[in-house]
Amino acid sequence: DEITIATLGSHTALHILKGAKLEGFSTAVITVKGRDVPYKRFKVADKYIYIDNFADISKEEVQEKLREMNAIIVPHGSFIAYCGLDNVENNFRVPMFGNRKILRWEAERDLEGKLLRESGLRLPKKYNSPDEIDGPVMVKFPGARGGKGYFVCSSKEEFDAKVKQLKEKGILTDEDIEKAHIEEYVVGTNFCIHYFYSPLKDEVELMGMDRRYESNIDGLVRIPAKDQLEMDLNASYVITGNIPVVIRESLLPQVFEMGDKLVAKAKEIVPPGMIGPFCLQSLCNENLELVVFEMSARIDGGTNSFMNGSAYSFLYHGEPLSMGQRIAREIRMALELDMIDKIIS
Ligand code: ATP
Repeated sequence: DEITIATLGSHTALHILKGAKLEGFSTAVITVKGRDVPYKRFKVADKYIYIDNFADISKEEVQEKLREMNAIIVPHGSFIAYCGLDNVENNFRVPMFGNRKILRWEAERDLEGKLLRESGLRLPKKYNSPDEIDGPVMVKFPGARGGKGYFVCSSKEEFDAKVKQLKEKGILTDEDIEKAHIEEYVVGTNFCIHYFYSPLKDEVELMGMDRRYESNIDGLVRIPAKDQLEMDLNASYVITGNIPVVIRESLLPQVFEMGDKLVAKAKEIVPPGMIGPFCLQSLCNENLELVVFEMSARIDGGTNSFMNGSAYSFLYHGEPLSMGQRIAREIRMALELDMIDKIIS
């Protein structure tokens, strides 16, 4: 029977659906009135499943429609956020591309840290308490807040002052502050590295790289330092866009080694491991070491920077390959080889 590739209309849905169509699949988007515009205007969806609001995504009737379409869901960041991790793990009975069990390992900071550390990747130094701060640190808070309220400081005194100020402004609660995560501030250049692990080929592919375009920090740095001081602004790191980037070629062995290590360790810790797209968000320091501050265990939003292919994905087959199309191609290959169980959960 015909397979439909489906996802929630948000995040990376445009190239997931476009890629699926290019590989000959039928496509469906789950959407709400008003948010369907991009999928209609770019004509990437064959079918529309309308819900009243995104939080209804996990409802039984939506799952029913998806099963009737013989759908394979491609989960992305927004899909997981609206469906909820518990639902994704236990109640969403539609075949899903990738290993749904690994999603918790990117969502919970402790699990994420364990997987990255045990993979042997370089991470920012972690501080257990504000009393230990002995140099520039980045302070993060729990929840999918997109970098709001995050701040940089260099001492316990500065930490206390900033926390007090952010509390007064209503940006942070006592509970947030209790759970503050303090890590070394890595001064370097940002590379978010998008990999694809193919279980069928048993190979990690480098699909593309982006760097983040964040508000208001990327606007703040355009203000002369003396004016910044007078303006008394709080920095925030809310993602607003992505910029494609390439890394100096001599760093590529390190890039591949990082992807290979993570895939090997994930097979051990969360079998069957990392399947399909994943992303390592890193900062390259002056010693040319890539320090990883975050991981996505599914398609990352930064892949939107190469919907028409990246410098790297082009190298494989000389074609403009997006991450969305790469996913669809793996599904198509698995169907041909009768190995679909290897890539869905
Ligand atoms: P995401 O939506 O990607 O999960 P998040 O809210 O978890 O974002 P991070 O990605 O951890 O936030 O951090 C937001 C931004 O802060 C990063 O893109 C980067 O610019 C900066 N950043 C994070 N960690 C560090 C660090 N250790 N040193 C320097 N800058 C950092």
